[in-house]
Order: sequence, then C-alpha cells, then structure tokens
Amino acid sequence: MLKYRSYAAHNLHTLPQYGEIPEEQLHVVKTVAAVYPFRVNNYVTENLIDWSNIPDDPMFRLSFPQSEMLDPVDFERISELVRREAEPEAIQQAAREIQLLQNPNPAGQMELNTPRMNGDFLHGIQHKYRESVLFFPSEAQVCHAYCTYCFRWPQFSGLENLKFANNDINLLVNYLQEHPEVKDIIFTGGDPMVMNTGLIKKYIKPLLNIPTVRTIRIGTKALSWWPHRFTSDHDSDELLHFFEEVVSSGKHLAIMAHISHPREIETSIAIDAVRRIRSTGAVIRSQSPIVRHINDDVGTWETMWQKQLQEGIIPYYMFLERDTGAKHYFEVPLAQAVEIFNSAYQKMSGLGRTVRGPSMSCSPGKIIVEDILEINGEKIFALKFTQSRNPEWTNKLFFAEYSETASWLDDLVPAFGHEEFFFEKEMEALYSYC
Ligand SMILES: *Cc1c(COP(=O)(O)O)cnc(C)c1O
Ligand code: SF4
Repeated sequence: MLKYRSYAAHNLHTLPQYGEIPEEQLHVVKTVAAVYPFRVNNYVTENLIDWSNIPDDPMFRLSFPQSEMLDPVDFERISELVRREAEPEAIQQAAREIQLLQNPNPAGQMELNTPRMNGDFLHGIQHKYRESVLFFPSEAQVCHAYCTYCFRWPQFSGLENLKFANNDINLLVNYLQEHPEVKDIIFTGGDPMVMNTGLIKKYIKPLLNIPTVRTIRIGTKALSWWPHRFTSDHDSDELLHFFEEVVSSGKHLAIMAHISHPREIETSIAIDAVRRIRSTGAVIRSQSPIVRHINDDVGTWETMWQKQLQEGIIPYYMFLERDTGAKHYFEVPLAQAVEIFNSAYQKMSGLGRTVRGPSMSCSPGKIIVEDILEINGEKIFALKFTQSRNPEWTNKLFFAEYSETASWLDDLVPAFGHEEFFFEKEMEALYSYC
C-alpha cells in the first residue's frame, strides 16, 4: 500500500528527485506556481515521470510549471519578487493581478450556465445543455495533481467569487425534480475522487431514487494519477461496492477518466484499477485535451486510444485547449489538431471510432472541427455542434474560412463571405438577457 505524498512549491525540497531538477527550473516552478496551481504526488514522480528526460518529458511538463506559461513581463515581475524573497502577501498580490487578466471563467460559464430556482442562482451547478447538469461538490475542488494546462485553475487559486462549489445535494435534487428533462448528472471539480467514499455516497445516493436521472458521470484523473483510489486506499473496496449499488439501481455509471498520455495507463496498478472498476458494471470513458509539448502528435493518440480500447476504456472526446490561463503555451491550432485527430482515428478499428473531436467547449456549445475542405477554390473548416445551448443546433454543420493559426471559435470567420455564423444572433440575445 503506497502512502500518499504530495509536493507543492513549499515542500519541493523534500521530493526525492529534487537534486535532478536544475536550479533554474526550480526557480521557474516557484515563480509560475505563484500564479497557477502546482502539486504533484509520489505515484506520479515515481512511476510516470521520466527523470532522465526533463524538462521535455511529457509527464513532467504536465505536472511541473514551465516558464513560458507566463507572459515574459509577468514572469519577470514574479521572478524578481521570488528572487529577493519578498513577503508572501506581495507575491500573492502580484499573482492575483495576473490571474484576473487570464480570462478565469471562459465561455460565459458563470453568467450563462448557472441555473436559477425561485429566483436564486444555484451556485456550484451548471446547466448548459438540456439533458445534462454539472455538479461541483465543495469537498472536491482540488485534484491529486494539477495539470499545468488545467482550464479549471481558478477553482484551485483561492478566487472564491469565481469558484463553482456547493455542498447541498438537496438543492440539486430539488432542481432535478423540477427539471425532468435532465437525464445526465456529471460530478466534476476538481476531482470528485479526492473525496472519501462516505462523501461520494452523500452526493450520489440521493440521485438513485430519481427516475428521470438515467446516467451519472464522475469526471476524474484518479484512475491514472492515483489508481490506488480504486485498489488499496482504505475505503477503495467500499467505493467499488458503492459503484455496484449504483449500477444495480438501474443507472448507468460512467467514470470519465482524464487521460492525456498512453504512459498513464501502462502501469500494472492503473490496469488493475481499470479492471476493478469495470468489474462493478461501471463504464470507463476517456477524454483529454490535445496539448502542445505533451500529446500533440499522431503516435501518442493512436497508442493511447489503442491501449484504452484493449483495456475496455471507451475513447470519448479529444478537446481543444480552452481559452483561459496559459492557453498561448499549450494551444494547438485547429488545423493541426484536426490533422492529428483524423490520422489517429483512421488507424483505429471501428470499435475505437467512438471518439469525437477535436472539440471546442465554446459559449454556444461543443463544436467539433470535422475536416479541412476546398469548395469552389475556397479552403474552409467544416464544423459541427455535438452539444448546443439551443438543442436544435446539435449535429448541424457549418463552415468557417480556413486559417493555419486559428485555435478557437473567436479566431474564425464564416466561410463563403457570410456575415455571421447561423447561431450568432441567438447568442447575442442570450448575453444581453443575462
Ligand atoms: C461537456 C459538457 C457537458 C457534457 O457534454 P457531452 O457531450 O454530453 O459529454 C455538459 N455540460 C457542460 C457545461 C459541458 O461543458
Ligand atoms: S484533472 Fe482536470 S480538473 Fe484536475 S487539474 Fe487536471 S485538468 Fe484540472
């Protein structure tokens, strides 16, 4: 049984591999960690990071802050404070100013997705797509390790008024009773799997008696970042029994595993965790963004999907890096992402073509970049909604002018000389309403 040990900037010197990190890199960690959350655990440092290949190793880049994540001016500002050992308050103050300029809540999440009941906003709940609701348990607003590219970084940065969190499950139950159209509840965070089994039960059990709820998802990185959660933690057997209970109640339980790299599912303990979860009747699906410096090549995705398929994990989404935080450092242009997606997809058998992507979670909905086409001499992107604020947009194709550098919907203009995309008027009306 491996004891959980966590390392952040303040106790990094206790990391056994500390001596292998160059002095300059340590300074980078301290500097960037003032702005973006950083934490890594001993399973990751001992089993996933290849220390002979830092800083290029993808698992290292996924966990340890990189200097380019900050704009050079911002980096210098914090770096200077760190070097002269300024007061923590001064560093925090400077970090706050930088954080608030990094688009902490992209895609209108706070304004447009927070539902109301009897006139009150339901904090910690998001209802964007008719059939599914997100719930952010208060105790789950941390992660076993913080991905450097995480789009939920404000949840972990002490930005309390920008945070989604709620500990009142009755609020969700009441909301669901008033909204029988919601079939799918997604527990997210942070990582709900940081909660002990007792808390997980507190949140999920009350949903088992609501007949309109058909599916329950739990978004987690624990499967690959702390697989012991499902194998040897003190309450892992109780957790798996609870999964069985959820399944036998007639709900579909989906573990939405965040897996960015094949190495994460190659250790024997991760494979053991997958098998134990599957033996409960829960289904594991995988989703992850395509991220520069970490997984921006065809071979990585092909190997990863192939491995997932073999272990019975269903490839579900390839996302594009959201428009927040250190996006400039991690983003992959749409043109490159669709080439990588299509090449890896073509190498899979039909069983692996359950995956969708590359997908942008934008304000109007989830938009897939389907392909690059040439029509009447005009090079264009074919795009499609897989989810949309207005359910009637779902599965609709639309077209944008090709761009080699565009990395988000905001960078695109409609193809064929059209003034606007078909959904823009309705979106504008929504924003002026809120
Ligand atoms: C992605 C997402 C969902 C789930 O979408 P699926 O396509 O069903 O996986 C639900 N709500 C929000 C706000 C989302 O971003
Ligand atoms: S697992 Fe998800 S929520 Fe947690 S740090 Fe990584 S990207 Fe963020």
